[in-house]
Amino acid sequence: MSSYDFDFFVIGGGSAGVRSARIAAGHGAQVGVAEERFWGGTCVNVGCVPKKIMVNAAEYGMWAEDAAAFGWDISAKGHDWAKLAAARDAEVARLSGIYDKLLKGSGVTTYNARATFIDEHTLQVGEERVTAERILIATGGTPMRLDIPGAELGLISDDLFTLKELPKRVAVLGSGYIAVEFACLLRGLGAEVDMVYRAPMPLRGFDEDIRAALVEALTAQGIRLNPDVLPTRITRAGKELLLGLSTNFVREVDAVFFCTGRNPNTAGLNLAAAGVETAANGAVLVDGEHATSRKHIYAVGDVIDRLNLTPMATATGHALADTLFGNRPRKASYENVPTAVFSSPPIATVGLTEAEAAVRGAVDIYLTRFTPMRHTITRREGRKTVMKLVVDQATQRVLGAHMIGEDAAEIMQGIGIAVVMGATKQDFDRTIGIHPTAAEEFVTLRTRAREAGVKAAAE
Ligand code: NDP
Repeated sequence: MSSYDFDFFVIGGGSAGVRSARIAAGHGAQVGVAEERFWGGTCVNVGCVPKKIMVNAAEYGMWAEDAAAFGWDISAKGHDWAKLAAARDAEVARLSGIYDKLLKGSGVTTYNARATFIDEHTLQVGEERVTAERILIATGGTPMRLDIPGAELGLISDDLFTLKELPKRVAVLGSGYIAVEFACLLRGLGAEVDMVYRAPMPLRGFDEDIRAALVEALTAQGIRLNPDVLPTRITRAGKELLLGLSTNFVREVDAVFFCTGRNPNTAGLNLAAAGVETAANGAVLVDGEHATSRKHIYAVGDVIDRLNLTPMATATGHALADTLFGNRPRKASYENVPTAVFSSPPIATVGLTEAEAAVRGAVDIYLTRFTPMRHTITRREGRKTVMKLVVDQATQRVLGAHMIGEDAAEIMQGIGIAVVMGATKQDFDRTIGIHPTAAEEFVTLRTRAREAGVKAAAE
């Protein structure tokens, strides 16, 4: 019998922490979990879930307009922000409640409190002091503002979900996942949107052909793009905000969103008391087993700042619990993780980009660009679908698949299985398409568009 209060104590009740706690308890461990803000964490409360509901809401406006081309007499008379917010908040509350219930149902002791380290086995949890043999840090991340004058006048992504009305004119700073998604959904709901970002194109790290297609799509839906630009200051002028830009222009807006990245939540944990080491940005440093510099303290999810995606956090939290308490040592792979950006149209990807693959060796590139059937009828601009396969020339293995276009995320999940299994281009080719769909293009890409990385292969 352990001399500690708990076999396993989890700090943070988000996707990673809740999954790990439940699975550990299922394996018979005595588990506690502390959450100071909301059960379900960022994803359920101020991230993936409420965001996707708002993306859905934005799509209906476009569909209502497009319906006319199919003979429908529909007109969108306007959008009721409060009604959407109420429906969204009810769903978020339902899901958050389920997380809490699931934990309790699996025998985990839950604390609605902040946990901080006293020493390497002891935590202050609200008013109580608890000890644990093993501890998991799963505290996630927090959106950050840039250090510019007036930054406090700007909003962060959490704030979208408490706004009482749609801001009419919005500046979105940054061009990562959140910036692109926010720009599209706010535009879809009727706002005028400026995207201000320091790179030449949005979504650094994504495949270049997809980024270029995204630029066209964003422009076509009336989002004003400001590439190679930095915000310099925000000032208030009555009800408006004035956003200064490095180009010396000023934008008059009603809201500025900082979508400029997230910081790991470690500041208030007193990690020094436990001897847990962090990187310069506060991320907890872990080894391949997710153990920190103290071998009985682990960390998973956004707090390690590795691949900040909910399903990655749940998968690693689950694998850790199986390893520690289920007598089933295993790891979740960080390779070939499918991911999507819920832009309009959405983007989805799995595996290597052309640029990543080309530095490793010679690859064949298959590429198609077409107007999806729906938009041959609506004639809506900027809705081209682009699909791309990056194929290893020597083995013919598909190293990467990329798509921008309607249903991209739904399509990419299945393609992801094939890529994870090591499918070759010939495996794709011998798969019969489902007709008529956009997805079938992934199995009918006959002609190589170009080759890349030939020089890297020769070296
Ligand atoms: P990202 O890291 O994706 O993007 C941050 C953006 O801020 C980039 O455009 C970056 O520019 C810019 N930036 C950072 N620092 C500065 C600076 N000093 N000056 C100017 N610009 C700056 O972060 P997000 O906040 O968008 O999202 C955080 C993470 O959350 C994502 O990486 C993703 O893992 C996850 N997420 C996933 C979603 C999904 O799965 N659909 C949805 C939302 C979030 P540059 O590119 O030039 O560095």
